Amino acid sequence: MFNNRIRIKALLAQEPQGQEVTVMGWVRTFRNNQFIALNDGSTNNNLQVVVELGKFDEALLKRFTTSASLKVTGTVVASQGKGQTLELKATSIEVLGDSDAEAYPLQPKKHSLEFLREKAHLRFRTNTFGSVFRIRHALAFAIHQFFNEKGFVYMHTPVITASDAEGAGEMFRVTTLPFDNPPRNEDNSINFKEDFFGRSTNLTVSGQLEGELGATAFGDIYTFGPTFRAENSNTARHLAEFWMIEPEMAFCDLEDNMNLAEEFIQYLIRYAMEHNREDLEFLAQRLAEEEKALPQDKRSEMGLLEKLEFVVSNKFERLTYTEAIEILRESNHNKKKKFQYPITGWGMDLQSEHERYLVEKHFKKPVILTNYPKEIKAFYMRQNEDGKTVAAMDILAPGIGEIVGGSQREERQDRLEARMKEMHIPTEELWWYLDTRRFGTVPHAGFGLGFERMVQFVTGMTNIRDVIAFPRTPKSAEF
Ligand code: ATP
Ligand code: MN
Repeated sequence: MFNNRIRIKALLAQEPQGQEVTVMGWVRTFRNNQFIALNDGSTNNNLQVVVELGKFDEALLKRFTTSASLKVTGTVVASQGKGQTLELKATSIEVLGDSDAEAYPLQPKKHSLEFLREKAHLRFRTNTFGSVFRIRHALAFAIHQFFNEKGFVYMHTPVITASDAEGAGEMFRVTTLPFDNPPRNEDNSINFKEDFFGRSTNLTVSGQLEGELGATAFGDIYTFGPTFRAENSNTARHLAEFWMIEPEMAFCDLEDNMNLAEEFIQYLIRYAMEHNREDLEFLAQRLAEEEKALPQDKRSEMGLLEKLEFVVSNKFERLTYTEAIEILRESNHNKKKKFQYPITGWGMDLQSEHERYLVEKHFKKPVILTNYPKEIKAFYMRQNEDGKTVAAMDILAPGIGEIVGGSQREERQDRLEARMKEMHIPTEELWWYLDTRRFGTVPHAGFGLGFERMVQFVTGMTNIRDVIAFPRTPKSAEF
């Protein structure tokens, strides 16, 4: 058997009692021809491997270069040195894979996040990305645990769809037609009947419509999968490929929906605080360092851990879109014309600068905005009695802006079809969706949480490209 190793995280939690163990990992540093800092990805804390002078060949020692992989067997003893309580006195060391230190792009020093994005294939081997991606994993696990505990069914909605759920027109087309000479109709338009699926298809922008089909049978479902948007927005919060969690609940109204979303977000944060303490402390430190370079008014008022603690122990602020517009209109920020997009009045779509003002300057906590004008929201949202607004809700988080978008759905068939006609959504194509309203329709609601934005919030990483392994953004799909 090759692998009877102990993970470094587990080893560091043991008492040093001269026990014999085997570890495997990658060299972070090797100093004084005596001390190897070995990391195996289970924690940012390296294991100090002590190489006794004269015990190993000079030629072997030369191969303990940065990022070489080693298999080390030895005895665990209390450490004399500072910085660690135990160390491994090596009895045998095997180099599993050499690493040319000259060519290895990551030096044992601080690299910028921008530089590391270009080395995304190796950046997991740094402390920052080690922490971020262990937390990302923990949050993904916690998502399934949360819904499983509540009796939700995990539903896999298709990645390739024929429907344009939002009517947003920002989709990636999926086709096998030759693009130099595609088959054409008589009017010269492309004949998608000849395409692979016999129709025009795209990558999904949301699993919601299919999710509603599940909810109206199982009661409660959730999806958790990749979504694709060809939006050409090069921001620190948008990816062309991102992961979304979309619960959909039958017998549920807007308030139930908000309650679930708030409980869900707090659960995820609490989970990370309990299970990823060490990594969060590391990232809190990192963020504090990074913010030292910023002018005072750009720094966060709270440290990362303080912020997370605050969000799990305080209720989110809930207000209507109409109230939000009033607050924004009356704000000094608006009166002094500091918004790039001025507050023109009721009916306008809120820009990210407005959302962030509400969250970061006015309320200083997460905010749930409800009852938006129907003109700026999707066709499936439930129409309120005022004839002007829909039962939508967006959750806005400090430092991020929109993190959740959701609504109570229009369950009344006549209202839904009328709204679809007004918005030029073809009812014939969505016949299967409309069937849920025809056969035992029920009040239902749901929301979408952007997974990467949630990971950003928990880790304090300011750019969304740093919380997904291999980011897909306009003009960039390396790796
Ligand atoms: P935004 O206004 O920020 O573009 P949206 O209104 O397009 O968001 P929804 O369609 O409601 O967002 O999607 C639900 C959630 O998915 C959002 O609240 C957000 O967390 C996430 N999300 C949306 N678009 C992206 C994207 N391009 N990259 C990463 N996450 C996204
Ligand atoms: Mn968007």
